Amino acid sequence: MSNMFLAYVGNDVFVIDPSVSPDALKYDVPPVSAILITHGHYDHIKYVDEWHKEFPKAPIYMHPDDDCLLGDAGANCSYMDGINKVFDFPHEKPEGTLSFRNVEVNVIKTPGHTMGSVCYMFTDGSEICLFTGDTVFAGSVGRTDMEGGSFELLKGSIEKIGRLPSETRIYPGHGPDSTVGYEVKYNPFFS
Ligand SMILES: [Zn+2]
Repeated sequence: MSNMFLAYVGNDVFVIDPSVSPDALKYDVPPVSAILITHGHYDHIKYVDEWHKEFPKAPIYMHPDDDCLLGDAGANCSYMDGINKVFDFPHEKPEGTLSFRNVEVNVIKTPGHTMGSVCYMFTDGSEICLFTGDTVFAGSVGRTDMEGGSFELLKGSIEKIGRLPSETRIYPGHGPDSTVGYEVKYNPFFS
């Protein structure tokens, strides 16, 4: 099970990594502005079709470098859950700055865990939030031994994240949140 986030910024609502069914939520979610996918692993996109059905106008963003994972149950790791699930949903390439009504979202390309891994950065006033998927966890980083993984590339991506303002809040795809400053100081992969 991976973390799914619902980010509310003014009137904009974002689903980040649709790993929970919309039917499982105990409240109604207002119209979603976009579905943001950090990478193409099954546990992060498990309910993308259900969210797309519920909010068909919301664009879905996932980097095309992970397209090769979608149609292959081995590569998208659904076999780890004991099922063979393949995906075919419309999606756009996240790059540069994505503009919405109330907020701009910066896309940081962070290959390493998968070729198409990206982080989404929200800046709201003085608060900066970074959704890192499986690139960085509190105290650790994502594994690089699966399809498209590269520890060399991951190291470069971690350096990129380490240069962000230290107060940047990190929301990973698994486990608790953290900050860039804390990870730079205590995460052994940042040194
Ligand atoms: Zn993953």
